Amino acid sequence: MNLELLIDLHIDGPRQGPGSEEHTNLALNLSGLKERNDRLEIADIGCGTGASTLVLARHLNANITAVDFLPEFLNVLRNANGKGVRTLQASMDDLPFDNSSLDAIWSEGAIYHLGFEKGVDYFSKHLKPGGILAVSEITWLTSERPDDLTAHWESEYNEMATAAEKITVLEQKGFLLKGYFPLPERCWLENYYEPMESRFDSFLSRNDSGEARALVVDEQAEIEIYRKYRDYFSYGFYVAEKVSSP
Ligand code: SAH
Repeated sequence: MNLELLIDLHIDGPRQGPGSEEHTNLALNLSGLKERNDRLEIADIGCGTGASTLVLARHLNANITAVDFLPEFLNVLRNANGKGVRTLQASMDDLPFDNSSLDAIWSEGAIYHLGFEKGVDYFSKHLKPGGILAVSEITWLTSERPDDLTAHWESEYNEMATAAEKITVLEQKGFLLKGYFPLPERCWLENYYEPMESRFDSFLSRNDSGEARALVVDEQAEIEIYRKYRDYFSYGFYVAEKVSSP
C-alpha cells in the first residue's frame, strides 16, 4: 500500500469514510454525553481530517484528543481549530492513554484496522467505568445475501457480521448497548464516494503512475460493489456504556 497516494486521494475529502454530521450527532444523543456536566476527556481514534471530531467539539464540554497515524490528516484538523481539540499521532494498537482515564472513545470507520473484538478490548481498557464507546463498523444488514457478496466480504474482513453478532461481542466484553443504527445510503454516496469520484481526475493528473491508476481502479470497484449491494451491508453505529471490566 502506497500511503502517499492514499493520503493524496483522501486528504481533500469532507471525510475519509462513510458518515455524516447528523449521524455523529444522533450517536451523541444516544450516548448521554451531552447531559454530563464535568469537562469530559474524549479520544477520537482514527479521526482522519476530523469530520466527527469537530462535531464532538461543537456539542460537548470536552478535551478531545484526535488520534490518527497519518500526520498529514492531523495537520488539516489542526487548521480547523476545533474547541478543546488536540491532535496526537499514534497507532490505535499503541495508545498512550492511562487505563480507565477516558469518559468516551469515539471511532468512526476505523476500528476494523484492529478488528472489532480486539478493538473493543483495547479501547475498553482506557475507559472509565460508565465510559462510552461509540464506533461505526461494517455490518451485514440482512441474514441472507448473494453468495458472491458473502465471498467478497469474507475475503476482505474476517469479522464481517450482523449487528446482533456485534452487539453480543459488546455485551460479552462488559458493555451495555445504549443504541444502534445503520448508516443510510447518503452517508456513503453523497458524503464519501461521490466527492471521491469527483477527485479522481485531478488525482490522476497529479500522479501519473500505474500505482495511482490501480488505486483508482480499486476504489471504483469498491464503489461499484456498494452501488450494487447497498441493501445488504452498511456501517452500523454502536453506542455502548462500559459497565464492567473484561
Ligand atoms: N474517522 C474518519 C476517518 C475514517 S478512515 C472519518 O470518518 O472520516 C480510517 C482512518 O483510520 C484513517 O484516517 C487512517 O489514517 C486511520 N488509521 C488506519 N490505521 C490506523 C492505525 N493503526 N492507527 C491510527 N489510525 C489509523
